[in-house]
Amino acid sequence: MFKIENESELRQCFRPIDRDTLEIPGRIKFPLFVRDYLAWRESSGHRTYLVVTDPESQKTLGVAFRNDSASTPVTRHCEWCHSSGGSSQIGLLVADASDRKSVGIHLCRDLSCQAKLESRSQLTGENTRLLARTLNGRISDFLKRCLF
Ligand SMILES: [Zn+2]
Repeated sequence: MFKIENESELRQCFRPIDRDTLEIPGRIKFPLFVRDYLAWRESSGHRTYLVVTDPESQKTLGVAFRNDSASTPVTRHCEWCHSSGGSSQIGLLVADASDRKSVGIHLCRDLSCQAKLESRSQLTGENTRLLARTLNGRISDFLKRCLF
C-alpha cells in the first residue's frame, strides 16, 4: 500500500521522458491510497499509465506505455497476469527506455491484471495474495530489467 498526496506528487513519479505526455484523469481524487499498483488508460486509448512502488527502494515509479494499434485479430497472452484475449484486450505496450530505445511487452491494454487475477482466484480458489505477489514480482522485474 502506498499513498500519493496530490497531482504534483503523482507527476513526479514519472520519468521526465514520460511527463510531457502524461494525462491524469479527473476522476482520480487525492490523497490517493493504492494497494498494489495504479493504472489507467487515457481517453484516446493511445497510452496506458502505470504507477507502482519498487519493493527494494520503496520509491514510487511511473511509466507511460504507448498502445500499438490492434492490427490483426489474434489471441494474445498477457506476460504479467497470463490472461488470454483478443487484440483489443491484450496488445503490445511500448515504453521509452531512453530517447533512442523503446521496450515492448504484451500486456492487458488497460493493465487490469490485478482484477483479472482476483476474479481467477475466486473461481479457482488460488491464494489472492500469492497471485498478487507473483504479479508484482513480474512488474518489478520488467521495470528493473528494461526501464529503471
Ligand atoms: Zn494482464
